[in-house]
Amino acid sequence: MRSLYPVSIRCARIFLPLYLGALRCRQFRYFAMGLLAPGPRAPINTSMLPTISDIFQDVTDTRRRNMAAVHGKDTKPELIVRRLLHKMGYRYRLHSQHLAGKPDIVFASRRKIIEVQGCFWHRHPGCQFASTPATRKDFWQQKFDQNVRRDSRNRVALAQSGWSVLIIWGCEVRAPELRTRLQTFLGPPGATQPYRSDRC
Ligand SMILES: [Zn+2]
Repeated sequence: MRSLYPVSIRCARIFLPLYLGALRCRQFRYFAMGLLAPGPRAPINTSMLPTISDIFQDVTDTRRRNMAAVHGKDTKPELIVRRLLHKMGYRYRLHSQHLAGKPDIVFASRRKIIEVQGCFWHRHPGCQFASTPATRKDFWQQKFDQNVRRDSRNRVALAQSGWSVLIIWGCEVRAPELRTRLQTFLGPPGATQPYRSDRC
């Protein structure tokens, strides 16, 4: 009869009381729960922990990267203006490589350029979106000054080569009068003579 006992029950009868007895010991209990290995806990090396300034630096670097990603071609305001121009019947070239500052939207035959500029990066005067971040003010100010200087340099170069430039700020792209502004600047849509550099 005894030999008919399954092996697993025989093992359980031996090991279960041992296991339950061991659970009374706190160290073993923690070990069994997988929370703490037996023995003294290793002291924490505080020099390995990041300092407050490390964390702060990381935050500002992430912010800088995010903002840098926003700063560039094919931004949302630019796409809104391009879509509207297309709907109005205008055709144009994008980011012309041979012109100063690679302007956004180029109407070569009309000798006109539309630049859609972000209020934050290009410092729209008096605009609520042209704020300066509270941290690392000098860094931001330097960046903004560079952008503004570059913009005015490009504008002078374009004007000297006979291009008219219309600046549309990011906060203006949803204004109802945008359509009228575009048409006033560009003239009526439709086919125009291709631009020839030798014309008067
Ligand atoms: Zn603005």
